[in-house]
Amino acid sequence: MTTRHTVVLGSGPTGLVTALLLAAEGIRVTVLDGDPLPPPGDADAIWDDWHRPGVHQFRQTHGLLPGGLYLLNQELPGLVEELRATGSPHNMIGGTWAGSAGSPRQPGDERYDTVAVRRPVLEALLLAEAERTPGITVRRGVRVTGLLTGDAQVAGSPHITGVVTEDGGRVAADLVVDAGGRNSPAGRLLGQVGAAPREDRAETGFRYYTRFFRAPDGAAAPPQPAWPLCHHDSVSVLSLPGDSGVWSVTLVTSGRDQELRALADPDAWQHALRLYPLFSPLGEAQPLTGVTAMGGTESRRRRMVVDGVPVATGIVSLGDAWATANPQFGTGMSLAVRHTVILRDALRLVGLDDPAELALRVDAGTEEFLTPVWEGLAHWDRHRLAEIDAEIRGEAYRTTDEAWNLQVAVETARWQDPAVLRALADVACLLASPEEALVKSGLAGRAVTLAAGQPRYAEPGPARPELLTAVGA
Ligand SMILES: Cc1cc2nc3c(=O)[nH]c(=O)nc-3n(C[C@H](O)[C@H](O)[C@H](O)COP(=O)(O)OP(=O)(O)OC[C@H]3O[C@@H](n4cnc5c(N)ncnc54)[C@H](O)[C@@H]3O)c2cc1C
Repeated sequence: MTTRHTVVLGSGPTGLVTALLLAAEGIRVTVLDGDPLPPPGDADAIWDDWHRPGVHQFRQTHGLLPGGLYLLNQELPGLVEELRATGSPHNMIGGTWAGSAGSPRQPGDERYDTVAVRRPVLEALLLAEAERTPGITVRRGVRVTGLLTGDAQVAGSPHITGVVTEDGGRVAADLVVDAGGRNSPAGRLLGQVGAAPREDRAETGFRYYTRFFRAPDGAAAPPQPAWPLCHHDSVSVLSLPGDSGVWSVTLVTSGRDQELRALADPDAWQHALRLYPLFSPLGEAQPLTGVTAMGGTESRRRRMVVDGVPVATGIVSLGDAWATANPQFGTGMSLAVRHTVILRDALRLVGLDDPAELALRVDAGTEEFLTPVWEGLAHWDRHRLAEIDAEIRGEAYRTTDEAWNLQVAVETARWQDPAVLRALADVACLLASPEEALVKSGLAGRAVTLAAGQPRYAEPGPARPELLTAVGA
């Protein structure tokens, strides 16, 4: 491949990993980001002071799943070494190894190992790696406001030849990578040049109420909860550690749940957390933040190939710009790493001289590896939101949907069978598909038998009226 030029729109995790992988292929990369400021100083300064208005979830709970770390380590081992040096070692099921309901450590549990690091700190490491990599130029404070098109169409679709920036600048490129995140302008900009990607969008998502904590000097952090994400009547509770002795706790509600908007108040939030015994010790420490609330997390997907034809060539959408899903399962950055590898592999096969074939190959890889995960999450969202709606009405949620009922059974049965627990962890950590971990192994049937007659929510927590009273709703 001769030296060619790619413009990457966005310097979030997707844009930076893309830049690193393409530079390793000998492609020159210019990364443009609308946010003007570089990360300051050390991890705590980055956390406190790095202003990133382009990423609304910048200071929300973020974990890198073992499946994502594994892939990153295959592609960028030096970067992972730095992540390990900055973050804290963490095993996703380590909380189950102790305690009466737990499942003692088994050989092979190291596959659930990852590195705990706060999102801004992770991103600063990625950015530093990109900025010192030959062939990559990162330009901050440069907002993309238009797409350039050539005279020739490819396969009857507009062919993108670069981008226009807010100051009227033009940056030509053999390929534009849209890594503009969940609010990427690419759909709108493609519309301006006559291309119509297909958008699927759910009407409601979840709402996140997150608080970060740190143990006082010299004190140990509270023990890791038995499982990082537990679902309850109306609320899911999520906790993940970060670097530098920090951890977060998030209360997740339906975006439609107006009464629980009271959780944005730190006192109400603390009262609520005390009702969940698996997580309440995590709220006893020094709060590092108030409660950061975030909604607008609906699932959305943009298809760049419709009915087998690329809607435009010379551009691909990766990571959150391609699709966003319910973030409580923490898949976003790991799927993004996978997506960048799909693009790199397609480039190795097709190069940049056949843009239509490149678009089709990226789409095929996306459909094969990413879409099943996204569809699984979107399916879970629909049922969980309907379940919360039913709880709000004071009813139990019933459905004949087998896939949802199996998911609920597996969640319940994980405390009764260590093999079911690990199968669930394999799926949750993006190490195996549900088909591989649960169906082919025969564990699905076992989970259904074990869960029969058990209560819907396996972990202790309040019923909705008690929760509403606690938060003063
Ligand atoms: C509440 C919440 C919790 C989450 N928790 C997790 C988690 O635990 N684990 C996980 O893996 N993922 C998590 N995610 C998802 C994760 O945040 C995303 O998957 C990830 O940020 C995607 O990276 P990205 O680079 O695609 O997009 P982003 O990180 O959004 O980056 C997009 C970049 O594009 C830039 N940009 C946008 N428009 C323009 C423009 N016109 N011109 C120039 N630049 C532009 C922005 O400034 C930004 O820097 C969570 C998400 C949410 C909402």
